Amino acid sequence: MDTRPDVIDEATALLDDVDRALVRLSDGTYRSCEVCATPLSGEALATDPTRRRCDEHPGTLPE
Ligand SMILES: [Zn+2]
Repeated sequence: MDTRPDVIDEATALLDDVDRALVRLSDGTYRSCEVCATPLSGEALATDPTRRRCDEHPGTLPE
């Protein structure tokens, strides 16, 4: 029976985002769009430190 409150799912998703940001930090791709490699602005990263996309690529990757 899965009775986890939504907040747990949200926290888990946030941790996944942080994990990915840390991986990107270590492999040197942090601060750039994962789609087009455009550098992300410091302002954008300050708003969302786990941001992975530029404004041109806000959605999910195409399959
Ligand atoms: Zn992009």
